[in-house]
Order: sequence, then structure tokens, then C-alpha cells
Amino acid sequence: MEYDGAFFLPSGPLAQLEGYEYREQQRRMADLVYQVLTHGHIGLIEAGTGTGKSLAYLYPAVCYARATGEKIVVSTNTINLQEQLLEKDIPILKKLGCRFKAVVVKGWNNYPCWLRLNELLEQVEPDSDTAGDLRELEQCLIQEALPLIAKSFDALPADLKEQVQAEPDLCGRGKCSFFNQCPVFINKRLAETADIVIANHHLLLADISIRQVVGWQEQVVLPLYSHVVVDEAHHIEDVATEYFSVQLSMLRIRRLLGFLYRSHGKNRGILASLRAKINLEPMHAENDARAALLDWQLLPQLRIVDEAAARFFQVMETECFSASTEQEAAPIPYGGVETLPVLESYDRFHTALVMLKGQLSALSALLDSEQQETLAPHLRRVEAVIADLEFIMNAGDRSYVYWVKRQPRQQGCLLQAAPILVGEQLKEHLLLQVKSAIFTSATLSVGGDFAYFRSGIGIDRVERWDIQSAVYASPFDYANQVYLAVAKDMPLPDQAEFVPVLVEHLESILKITCGRAFVLFTSYAMLQKTLEQMKKRGLDQRFLILMQGEMPRTEMLDLFREKEGAVLLGTDSFWEGVDVPGEALSAVIITKLPFRVPTEPIVAARSEHLQANGINPFMHYFLPQAVLKFRQGCGRLIRTQADRGLILICDRRVMDRGYGKHFLQSLPTCPARLESLEEIEHGLKAWYQSSACKR
Ligand code: SF4
Repeated sequence: MEYDGAFFLPSGPLAQLEGYEYREQQRRMADLVYQVLTHGHIGLIEAGTGTGKSLAYLYPAVCYARATGEKIVVSTNTINLQEQLLEKDIPILKKLGCRFKAVVVKGWNNYPCWLRLNELLEQVEPDSDTAGDLRELEQCLIQEALPLIAKSFDALPADLKEQVQAEPDLCGRGKCSFFNQCPVFINKRLAETADIVIANHHLLLADISIRQVVGWQEQVVLPLYSHVVVDEAHHIEDVATEYFSVQLSMLRIRRLLGFLYRSHGKNRGILASLRAKINLEPMHAENDARAALLDWQLLPQLRIVDEAAARFFQVMETECFSASTEQEAAPIPYGGVETLPVLESYDRFHTALVMLKGQLSALSALLDSEQQETLAPHLRRVEAVIADLEFIMNAGDRSYVYWVKRQPRQQGCLLQAAPILVGEQLKEHLLLQVKSAIFTSATLSVGGDFAYFRSGIGIDRVERWDIQSAVYASPFDYANQVYLAVAKDMPLPDQAEFVPVLVEHLESILKITCGRAFVLFTSYAMLQKTLEQMKKRGLDQRFLILMQGEMPRTEMLDLFREKEGAVLLGTDSFWEGVDVPGEALSAVIITKLPFRVPTEPIVAARSEHLQANGINPFMHYFLPQAVLKFRQGCGRLIRTQADRGLILICDRRVMDRGYGKHFLQSLPTCPARLESLEEIEHGLKAWYQSSACKR
């Protein structure tokens, strides 16, 4: 299939579609993507909202893959975008006569494991609702229809889902009797023959980390591929950091123990199944030994591990946070925490785990080979927990940063170790392995400069390829669609009067916009304070106020879209990835510039690393990161050509400070009004009443 340079033109095939609009930026982006695929370069492409970037990379990718037989992986940050590509963009290309095969690959936990399903069916009451749900899923599995399986699996209650989901380390692969009908492997086989494989960043990273060990030429999480297109690429560094991190929490320990044995519930665990089988077998010396090991050593040991773990996490939290009660995270110093209570509780927890490992090994030696195989992954999980615990508590690898994080809604704190830099790993194990890598997003550059993004993925010093980069501005008419204002008389965000002044003026502004606003914060504390004062002024009687954390994110967004005049107060996750086109969102209010908290362990470690290398961390890390996030936040407002509204910046540092210009200049061409809050209210009213913008 040949690449048609006229595909996006008014005279080309795409123009046949209803609602077609010619977008010069889209055509140019597609040409560049094709060029990068053909010449094997790295492409860094920023494409503003409304460019139509999905089609601009999918069309050339499809043509190139079909013409050369080289597989292309498209990676997105979210499953939502994976599904959008499959359900919206790919059907467009197929409708226009492009013949190709595209397959979506998701993580193992998105598929049911037939074996685990069968085991659970044996343990639940045959007439129970649970058995009914499981049998329904079993019927879908028998039909081998992947969409039906996905639908039935997604409909299961969360706890049931967890008990039947596929787990890579528990899977027997070719030795499993369901291997040929297993949805995980049906999908894997489909992906092997696909031209385009649509993955997500987590899978891409999982694939990279396994290939690091087994070699690039092996088929692992993803089939072998030659090219990668990374969409929503501004997330890749964070996902890589998370992926290469080591985490330990009470939740992980309880999950590990639960897989081994539960005293009650639907799925009683592997040791309970073994014990039940022993009861059914005739008594003989070997059976007696197994039963004794289980009853007198292993099962009591599980309790000992649980208790030792609970004590350990509690002591870690008390000891590490003793100096302050406000911090969310506290660093673990290199060399580890050496207070007596920590050393004692660690020793007890570690010893309990090592004994558990020894007892599981002893049990394994008494089992037949089939049972040994079933037990083996659980033994490996215990070993992995011991290794991770030692790694974190020794805190000896200086390329990592170590910390403890409070988790008020979970059982105890979280221990974490994350690599300070991930760029080298991405460069070594991805960029140097593929023929071409294209990174794209609506926000990748700061003022057209990709230096910050490049250094994050390890290509600041690559001489091996040419790097092609381009910025394609959004086709929207921001100058007419947006009233962009900076409130010049706001107090600074860290002043006590900030929230009262903000709320006082929110009242009049929300009246003009009829609610329909996102108010974006950088901290939960300020969000809560604002909400309290909004309630005091009775704003909750006039507007539906939605606060992040009150309900699941998707539910909150649905409500925001449905209900007239809603106001959403959000922090971190609402600054991006939220799409509310139309009048439902008519104002985005940025309370404070989104600089990362310098005391966050990973942020502090990266900042120190730059400083040690003679690089100014503010200019090269904090500022570009904040500018990109700011652009994402402002970008929530205009999603279509018909959208209009207010972007109000309440942090006057954008005009008072030297660095402020980087924020304003990073926004699409649109005059920024530096006005007092009163002037903004008058100006906004007049703007809405003007003929260009009737409401
Ligand atoms: S192949 Fe693996 S995931 Fe599939 S049914 Fe068997 S054990 Fe489960």
C-alpha cells in the first residue's frame, strides 16, 4: 500500500468523510511521520489540539507497515486512547479502503485466566450469584469471542475480577491445558500477525524490561517490532520511572499471603487447595509429612509474616515521619534507616519471610511435579518480596532514590525506590533497538524547544540519528475563542488572603459563565480550603460543586457533562487527559502555577543531580515541567472549533516574575489581558455580549 501524499487534501480520499475539514497541520505531520519511518530517524512532533494527530500518524504508519512488512507499535498512555484508535480512527481508514490488520494489546490483568476461573468455580457454591457470573464468563470463553469475553469480564465485581484475572507469573503458558483457547494468547497470536499493534506505555515498558534480560529478538510482552509511535509521549518518562521503581506495601504482602491461604471467602488459596487434596488421599508417611508441614509450620507462619509486616510498616511510618506530621513522603537516607525500632521490626519481618520461603521450599520437595509447578510462582513471589525489601532497606544504590509515603486510605505506608534518571534505559533498550521512534503529544516543547523532553528520554546526546522535530499549532482560533486573563490584583498564592479573595471573585465570575468551570489546584489543601469558603458564601446552593476525591473520576466527569452549571474543583489528574467539548466547560481557572513540589523525593533527587552536573535545575527542570503542565491545564478549555470561554490565571507570578513570560508565550496565539479582577468581570461580560460571542 503506497503512501498517498494527497490523502488529507480536499481532493484526496479523506475528504469523502462527512464533516471533513482540511487541516494543513495534519497533512504536514503525516508527511513528516512517513519520512521518519522511511529514513529511520527519531521524530519529536508536537501537534496542538484539533490537528487530528491520531490519523496523521496512523495513516503513514499503516502505509509503511503494509509496504515493508515491518511491524509498528503505537503506544498510548491510557486504555481510553487505545480504544479510541481502535473504535474511531482505524475504522475511518478501513472505510476509505486501507487494508491492514491492527490489534489492541492490553496488560494481562485485562483478561480472564481460564484456569483460575475453573479453580474458583470448583470452590464456590454452585447455586450462588458468583457461580452464575463465572459461568456466564465461561460461556464467552468457550465461544472464543474476545469482545464478548472482555465485556463479561469487565462486568464482574472488582474482587471477583481480581481472583480470575490472568497473572503472568502464575501462568503455565504452553503447559496449561487451556493455552490454545486462552484469551491472553489468542490476542498475542493476533498481534503477531498484525501490521499495527496498539499498546500502552505500561506494556511498552514491561516489554522493554523483559527484553533487557532475554534479548531484543525474543517475542515477549509485545511481538517483535521495528518502529514505535509513542502518543501522549509527555507521560513516557513518568511511566518509565514508575515501571522501574520498586514498591513495597502491606497491600502487596496481604495479596501475596492471600494467594497462599485465606481462612474464608470464595477462593481459599493454593495452600488450602493442597490441604483439601491431602485430606482426600490415603494416609501414608509422605502425606503425613505434608499435612504436618502445612498445619504446624506453614499456616502459622503466614500469620507471623502478616503480624511482622503490619508492625514493620507501622514502625517505618512512625520513625520516618516523626519530625513532621504534614509531609506526604519522607526520604530513606542512603545506607538505610538505622533507628533501633526500625532495625528490630525489619529483622523480625525479614526473618519471617525467609522462614516462609524455607517452608514453602520444603513443602515443594514433598509434592509431585505438577503441584510443584503450581506452587513455584508463589515461591518466586516470596523471593521477590525479600529481594525488594532488602533493596529498599539497604538503600545502597545511588542511582536510585528511596522514600516512605503515607497512604491514609490504605493499610500502612508505602516504601518506594525509583531510579533518578530513566533516559539511559529508554535510550539503550528502546531507541537503539528500533529503526524509528516517533514521540508525539499536544505538549512536548517549551516555546518550540524540545530539550526538556529529549533529556528525559535520554536523547540529549545521541549522535547516531538525525532528530526531526516539528511543532504543528492547533488550527483553532484562540484569539476569538478565548478570553485569556491574568488577575493582576490577586495576592500571591502562598499569602493568607489568597483563598478568600479567590472565592469572593469566583462568585461573580461563575455567575457570568453560569458555572461550567474547572478550577484547577496544585494541592489538595488549597482545594479544600476553597471549597469550605465557597460553601460559607452559599455557592454550593447555586452551583453543583464537584470536588475531586468525592467520587470516581469518570463518574464525576459524566456528572459535570450532564448537569447544567457544574463547577469542578480538581488537582493533579484534572489538568490533563480530560475532554469536555461544548458549553459544559466554559471556564478554566488556574489558581497557581503547577511547579512540582521540590521536596518530593524524586524531584529533589533529579534537581540535585542536575545541580551536581552544573545545570540550573529551575531553568532546566522545574520551569519546563511547570510550563508543560500549565499548557495542559489551559488546553482543557478549547476542544472544538465551536468552543469558547475564559482562561483565568490567578497566579500573578506569570507577569511579576522574569520566568512568567515562558508560561504566557507557551499558549496558542491569544492576547493575554493583564487586568484587575473587577476589570476581568466587566470585560468578560462585554465579551460574552459581543456579537462574536453570544451565549
Ligand atoms: S495460559 Fe495462562 S493465563 Fe491462559 S488460562 Fe492458562 S494459566 Fe491462565
